[in-house]
Amino acid sequence: MNQATLRFYEELNDHLPAQQRKRDIAVSWVGDRNAKQLIESIGVPAAEIDLILINGEPSPLEATVHDGDRISAYPMFERLDISSISPGTPKRQPRFILDLNLQKLGRTLRMLGFDTIYGLDRHAIVTLAVAEHRIILTRNPSLLKNEKVTHGILLHETKAEAQAREVVHRLQLESLVQPFARCLECNTPLASSALIPRDGVKSWAGEYRCCENCGKCY
Ligand SMILES: [Zn+2]
Repeated sequence: MNQATLRFYEELNDHLPAQQRKRDIAVSWVGDRNAKQLIESIGVPAAEIDLILINGEPSPLEATVHDGDRISAYPMFERLDISSISPGTPKRQPRFILDLNLQKLGRTLRMLGFDTIYGLDRHAIVTLAVAEHRIILTRNPSLLKNEKVTHGILLHETKAEAQAREVVHRLQLESLVQPFARCLECNTPLASSALIPRDGVKSWAGEYRCCENCGKCY
């Protein structure tokens, strides 16, 4: 006999009887079960789940559950999903602000031309997201639970390149990617008028774009 602990968050609790809501639920089984099977066995539709953590690690719903595992299940953050506001091709460039541990993703998104801020603490992230209508990107559901936050994406991927693909795909930004349109150091758009290399830049490198703000050349 195996036993795991399940915990559901937010509106996923609507599917549970009152005595099981917002608390640990022990589930027992014999044989092999994946997370999806265990979750659906207690009446929560897997389709409403955006993310599960098994022992704290983001995991696919098909992951095999082992004796003693702890599963946390989070719903789709529907109020945060900008694709529902602007289906199809976005009308304007989205602006991002990233959770502290996503520096590499920040540079990758800038490399793709997206207006991206990173390196701020949580309080500043929420403040700037609200003030500048920026979309928060994070791996931590708790950041998106702040009541002031209106636009955010809970990332599933762990590596920066895969995360960048995930963002572009989920927000349907394919047509807006503009490689090397933005300074990787300071987020300033690289103007075409800045194509002429400054003194000191070696001519063999061909064509440059230099940042008018910080002087960094690419
Ligand atoms: Zn710059």
